[in-house]
Amino acid sequence: MARKLEDIRNIGVIAHIDAGKTTVTERMLFYSGTSHRVGEVDKGNTTTDFDPEEAERGITIYSACVTFPWKDCTINLIDTPGHVDFTAEVERCLRVLDGGVVVFSAREGVEAQSETVWRQADRYKVPRVAFINKMDREGADFESVLAEIERRLKANPVPIQIPIGAGPPHVKDAFRGVIDLIEMKMLHFGDGDEDRTVEVRDIPEDYVDKAQLYRDNLLEKLYDLSNELMELSLSEEPIPTQLIRDVIRKGVLARELQPVLCGSALDGIGVQPILDAVTCYLPSPKDVPPVVGTNPAKKNQSESRSPDPSDPFCGLVFKVLPAKHGDMTWVRVYSGELKPNSRLLNPGRDVKENCAQLWHIQASRREQVDHVGCGDIVGIIGLRHSVTGDTLCDTRSPILLESIKFPETVIGMAIEPESSADRDKLSETLAMMRRQDPTFDALENKDTGQTIISGMGELHLEVIRHRLLRDFKLNVKVHKPRVSYRETVGKSAKVTGECHRIIQGQQLFAKLTIQVEHVPNQQPPVMVISKCPPDNVPFELIEAA
Ligand code: GDP
Repeated sequence: MARKLEDIRNIGVIAHIDAGKTTVTERMLFYSGTSHRVGEVDKGNTTTDFDPEEAERGITIYSACVTFPWKDCTINLIDTPGHVDFTAEVERCLRVLDGGVVVFSAREGVEAQSETVWRQADRYKVPRVAFINKMDREGADFESVLAEIERRLKANPVPIQIPIGAGPPHVKDAFRGVIDLIEMKMLHFGDGDEDRTVEVRDIPEDYVDKAQLYRDNLLEKLYDLSNELMELSLSEEPIPTQLIRDVIRKGVLARELQPVLCGSALDGIGVQPILDAVTCYLPSPKDVPPVVGTNPAKKNQSESRSPDPSDPFCGLVFKVLPAKHGDMTWVRVYSGELKPNSRLLNPGRDVKENCAQLWHIQASRREQVDHVGCGDIVGIIGLRHSVTGDTLCDTRSPILLESIKFPETVIGMAIEPESSADRDKLSETLAMMRRQDPTFDALENKDTGQTIISGMGELHLEVIRHRLLRDFKLNVKVHKPRVSYRETVGKSAKVTGECHRIIQGQQLFAKLTIQVEHVPNQQPPVMVISKCPPDNVPFELIEAA
């Protein structure tokens, strides 16, 4: 059975590294009943960090889509990396998501990477809820993080909860629960890893005034979105909580506000309400506008596809991961339906693909499915040519969706296999890794004979090198890329013998060896090289031997 469109949430947990995304995700899986133990990053046993490289490092590098139920909904959750070297990963996930949970640390607040991901989410028009985590940490400060979200991210954060206390158990007024400002009740969370209960209690005496103040502010922020709410509050009639929720939802979908929740994921405080907020406020695939593409069969005429099962199938590949029997290609389905063993068209490459098996990944198991409806996310086995950013569609109704843009790589290193017998294996493996990770590049420099790999940062390249060794037993030596320079030097600048030392500003950048025409009795000239790999920045060559 395909899932009902309005009951699907395609969301991502996004944040600065260390804010607690993985911990929040693990807790979500645990409370949903999908995972029978709480994975902990510090113990290296989390579910979404299934790559041993990630478990080792304690950071989430490759996003994995995990499906789990929450109340009447099915949540497809993509855990996105927070490290700056992997922002392109975040970007491709944002493209296929409908909503996001942004995690902040109550201690560190808004950090550089939180700004980056927030801006990315703005660009992709992703509605969000925010979770201020680590309320149990020394120095946790809910209000100052709220103010930072407003000031630095130019957002409209609207608390729908406030914390009771802050800081670890030994401090006075330690963090011990949250107040739900819609129900005006305290939520008390069961102690210990096995306890999933949330007890609703009365607000402690000393927090009643503060809670009332925050609730008044909440309602005030909502008046602009609902006359009914404003009139009710003027009449002093009790305001139905469902009305408040509906208005918040309206504001979230219009991206005019971001509800803010708080807690301590590590202690299991405040995570179930995030899931409630996801289902209550974030959009279902039905709430997002139809996707627009071009029809290559009709002179690239513009066309759109709605999340409608009767529309022809179309989807976008957003991830390719190695699996046991060939690659698993992750696709967001935008329209139509998909069954195993169907033929699909990849219009960008003009190839037909065989979609052999359909998979959903649960926390602790993989489940083969016989039907996937629009709005859903699915892992496909059997595709051979499609890579991230490609459109897949019904063979009779071609449509080409806008591809996913990737930034240029920023750093390169030269690698060479320890054994020259591994040369072919290395180039095949790099080609395959490139298919899986479009933010990584591998090129052979014909002039120097070196293989140059390039990526988004040092960590990115280091991870690739480790994967070569771990997954493919390819031990590679690393060198600095040798610069090769081929350009006709200007007429007047004939250089004798060898030249070396390139200066960029005050800094020695690289050494060069250039063979040039020998002109007897001529002083080594100073000359300007206008183009020089790899950066295409002008260099001044100041010395010639
Ligand atoms: P990510 O990099 O955003 O995925 O963050 P992790 O989930 O890996 O968490 C980073 C570190 O913060 C780990 O050591 C976690 O145990 C710790 N952590 C996560 N949530 C909390 C929390 O609510 N309270 C405290 N005190 N530590 C937390």
